[in-house]
Amino acid sequence: MATVVLSSDGNLMGARIADDGQWRFPPMDSMPEKFKKCITAFEDRYFYYHPGVNLISLAKAGYQDIRAGKIVSGGSTISMQVARMSSMHSSRNLWYKILEIIMATRLELSYSKEEILNFYVSNAPFGGNVVGLNAAAWRYYHRSPFELSWAETATLAVLPNAPSLIHPGKNRKQLLNKRNRLLGRLFKQGVFDEISYKLAVQEALPENVFPLPNVAPHLCEKINLEKKGENIKTTLDFKLQNIVGEILEGYAKNLAVNSISNAAIVVLDVKSGNILVYQGNTGLIENQESGSHFVDIITSSRSSGSTLKPFLYAALFDEGKLLPQMLVPDIPTQIAGYKPENFNLSYDGLVPASEALARSLNIPAVKLLRTYSIQKFLSLLQKLNFSTINRSADNYGLTLILGGAEVNLLQLSAAYASMARVLNNYRTNGYDRGDWHPSFYLSTPENKAKPDRTKVLSASAIFEAFNALLDVNRPINETGWKLYSCSEKIAWKTGTSYGFRDAWSIGVTPKYVVGVWVGNADGEGRPGMTGLTTAAPIMFDVFNILPDTTWFTPPKDEMVLLEICNKSGFRAGPNCQETYKSWLTYNSSYSPLCPYHKLLHLDQSSKYQVNSSCEKVSNMVNVPWFVLPPVYEFYYITKNPDYVSPPPLRKDCFENSTKIMEFIYPPPSALTKVFIPKEFTGKQSAIIFKVTHRQASTTIFWHLDNIFAGSTQNIHEMALNPSKGKHFLTIVDENGITIYLNFEVLSEKE
Ligand SMILES: [Zn+2]
Repeated sequence: MATVVLSSDGNLMGARIADDGQWRFPPMDSMPEKFKKCITAFEDRYFYYHPGVNLISLAKAGYQDIRAGKIVSGGSTISMQVARMSSMHSSRNLWYKILEIIMATRLELSYSKEEILNFYVSNAPFGGNVVGLNAAAWRYYHRSPFELSWAETATLAVLPNAPSLIHPGKNRKQLLNKRNRLLGRLFKQGVFDEISYKLAVQEALPENVFPLPNVAPHLCEKINLEKKGENIKTTLDFKLQNIVGEILEGYAKNLAVNSISNAAIVVLDVKSGNILVYQGNTGLIENQESGSHFVDIITSSRSSGSTLKPFLYAALFDEGKLLPQMLVPDIPTQIAGYKPENFNLSYDGLVPASEALARSLNIPAVKLLRTYSIQKFLSLLQKLNFSTINRSADNYGLTLILGGAEVNLLQLSAAYASMARVLNNYRTNGYDRGDWHPSFYLSTPENKAKPDRTKVLSASAIFEAFNALLDVNRPINETGWKLYSCSEKIAWKTGTSYGFRDAWSIGVTPKYVVGVWVGNADGEGRPGMTGLTTAAPIMFDVFNILPDTTWFTPPKDEMVLLEICNKSGFRAGPNCQETYKSWLTYNSSYSPLCPYHKLLHLDQSSKYQVNSSCEKVSNMVNVPWFVLPPVYEFYYITKNPDYVSPPPLRKDCFENSTKIMEFIYPPPSALTKVFIPKEFTGKQSAIIFKVTHRQASTTIFWHLDNIFAGSTQNIHEMALNPSKGKHFLTIVDENGITIYLNFEVLSEKE
């Protein structure tokens, strides 16, 4: 049997030829009424009335044969022909005829007329290697047998009797005559009126054999491997699959100009988890030759880029360790010799968690992963059914969050869809991750997955993560960002893997998930190819053809109303000035209070900070102030010009001061290690040391290994060339405040 792949509404998506080289489709569930009328009128007028054998027509045939002196007419009923087909012989002698008669009557006893007719129609030859009505309709008319005209149906009905007539040549006239005689017979039977008859006999015969549809070729291949020779109804939406295929082909041409050869799209229905669109690659429609287009990208393992970040943020929201507006650090960071960088190579100092997620900042993500634990995150991903993420926590390290792991488009999209499903359904159905594995086989009640009540992420945490990913939160000045013409609320995340090898964009609404991958199947990167610039536009185009949906209902029944500090996004403490109330995950009520609003003690002029060592308590003015540690402030102030540093300490109050001055680079730790950067030429360049001081205009004096190295004012950066090994840096400001740093210089990693 050939493998036949249908859409959810029964349209032919594609087929693969049977091993015997025949286009033999698996039996159909039903048969078109037109064909039933045609085939019985032509082959066996009394089919519905005889017991398998028609004695009158047998007698007639016998008479004709005797007169001719040879067998010219078989007088066989459809049932007898079925008997002959099933016994696989073609001899026409008397003995076999008797055998056929016996078998036909037995068939009639065991099977209904419809079953016998269906068997006949499914196995009858239709010329060449075409077997059965379904294959014939697609090969000769490029349509389903249910969509054929009377003339087309009649043409097919006369073929099993003389299949060779379909071949071009002198047979054509004979085929046309046979067809028209059948149409005339049907007209006389009153099956259609005279006008229809006259029009029908004017219709031309099919000229060519059509290739079969090949709408979702990669899925058809997969199904042909898994369910060879079966008639498979998939979950695919025929119309949508075709439109999305066209959208992707449209983009493929532009991508090809930039030497980007491949792309893939999957569209999932959130409610059922069903796959609606499975476009495994580009280019197969026009170019049957090119190898890379045969790769099914949807199930290929590729570097995740930043696409796993939302799961980490959701997990931290769930535990109450992070609130959506909470400031998270974004400063130069070095963890165990590993130095993550943001995509734009700049730092915000501190940035609200939601913004860090929306802008996909790497440093906050790495710091948050360390807070959460790699091992815990790994086990979360495994619960989210990422089967390709199967190495150990040590093996992945912190790069797990930045693309160190491989995922495939299907599992990634499915995880987003499952989160949306939980958010939609937890109230009515409870937590159910039963179909976190999407299937393209249309499920029947028997094979429907059992509910899996494991709560992986709470609805409230998912809601907070999705809200962070709404386009409205996306700053307009972000690289490559443009406003897409999409009025709908869509939570979306892009990803770009190391070396611009993979560009991802995944979008989610309460109804649909659209996942897009762009790149080269052979893994070759293309400079500048990012998820935002290449995958996101395709994703938005697909959302534009999907019906609009309204946004998720906030899961307030799983949330608490908390007072939040406007500036820090932490729970408001006693010194926070502006606050607002916000519904947050239940565990958020255990999160720490705002650490940045402090009560400063100022002198009467309010120009200086004072303390009890230099001023009477009764003379102090207490003012709440948003104070950031200098290392954050240094970067924060560049992005937040309204930030006002606390007033300086009055000169006579320095004894008890701390954190006037801090190292920014290298960040101090117990074992600070520094790599010597290499220039393009391969020459080792100087290391730039950075320090921040509360009063930038102060002069700072630098000493490397107790040797004076220079002084700085305003911008406290010093280029130094320490040799490989351990060193000691001393920094003194004009007031004599001193900080130290022990560090070790390692040569640049090769
Ligand atoms: Zn505060």
